[in-house]
Amino acid sequence: LENEFENAIQIVKLLQQNGHKAYVVGGAVRDQILGREIGDIDITTSAIPTDVQSIFDKVIPVGIEHGTVIVRYHGESFEVTTFRIEGDYSDFRHPDKVHFVDRIEEDLSRRDFTINAIAMNVDGKIIDPFFGVKDINNRLIRTVGKAEQRFYEDPLRILRALRFSSQLGFSVEKNTKISLLANIEWIKKLAIERVAVEIEKLFAGTNIKKAMPLLLDSRIDKFLPIFKDKSDLWKCFCTLSTPVPTLTEFITLGHLYDRSVPIETWVKQWKLSKQIKKDSFKLVELFDDFEANHLNKWLVYRLPTYLIQSFIHIVSVLLNEQIKEETIREMQGTLPIQERKELAMNGQDILYLNPNKPKGPWINDCILQLEKNVVTGDVENNKKDIREWVKQWK
Ligand code: ATP
Ligand code: MG
Repeated sequence: LENEFENAIQIVKLLQQNGHKAYVVGGAVRDQILGREIGDIDITTSAIPTDVQSIFDKVIPVGIEHGTVIVRYHGESFEVTTFRIEGDYSDFRHPDKVHFVDRIEEDLSRRDFTINAIAMNVDGKIIDPFFGVKDINNRLIRTVGKAEQRFYEDPLRILRALRFSSQLGFSVEKNTKISLLANIEWIKKLAIERVAVEIEKLFAGTNIKKAMPLLLDSRIDKFLPIFKDKSDLWKCFCTLSTPVPTLTEFITLGHLYDRSVPIETWVKQWKLSKQIKKDSFKLVELFDDFEANHLNKWLVYRLPTYLIQSFIHIVSVLLNEQIKEETIREMQGTLPIQERKELAMNGQDILYLNPNKPKGPWINDCILQLEKNVVTGDVENNKKDIREWVKQWK
């Protein structure tokens, strides 16, 4: 096994040395077999959380009652989950009860798809009671057990099937697909936070275009906030041929496709973070500036590095214009200042120049105007020139 698994293997070995069974499981095993870049490595073990806590120094109890802890090991994080099976899901969020078990096969049986129900021991040997390797080779998403039952237990699996088809470019196996299409409405029982996580990954999938026909067929939109009342909006999303990597970009596109839905509504109905809201507002503002004025100094000045890719993608999707990241970076490099605090004068200084004016919002207006003038090169960034400029500013 490659180095990427080095720390995970150490953890598995330590668990074994303490008398427990342990395996690498889930997405990492699947992606390793596929030759895909692996993400987080999940470990499954017969050890219960208190055992795990006694073996490792840094253990974060994220879901003790479900048997899940995070082990920090040599700077890396690993989800370590006790072998378990699940009771009913009466709230459609968490199983009412989980039962710890001691056979890996039982643990694998509660997992969603055969491709995710493969365990790997430290020698790279594979435990695959549901023939997940075969499904990986045939590029098929198939539930472990009867699709109907597995989707009913946790309708998130319906969304996950679509998500994996977009991420991996796999097809959904016939019976799994029949059940997915017949029972799509079960997703309305899910907490929106869980839905949002899967929708983000779905639209971020590199095979989104390939997954689109099934996505359209599923009529999932009828059960998603906002889309359920805006069928044209969903159609716009279904014409996308490139991945949308983040929810920020997703809702920004949503708003730009149909401005009658405010960003606030997206954020509220999808229960998204303040950061996403802030970034989305910024992207809309910059998009509008681009549409009116093309790339300009003031625009690139306001575009933070972490939003460059999103901005470029949105412009490409909506205006079919391809901006190069390098072009933006170069323009940013030639700006007189990179941020407001580099201005040669601050609010205090400006207040000082206007001793007769009381403090008020005018100071902020003035600084914003000044900032813009300095960025565009209309005013030089030194005290003397700024003083002159402030004098004539109203
Ligand atoms: P990714 O590469 O996106 O992390 P993953 O397959 O690792 O994909 P996770 O959401 O990290 O997906 O879940 C880890 C594993 O836990 C899955 O591979 C699967 O075995 C199991 N699992 C996750 N969610 C469910 C679910 N809703 N029902 C059953 N099993 C699940
Ligand atoms: Mg994972």
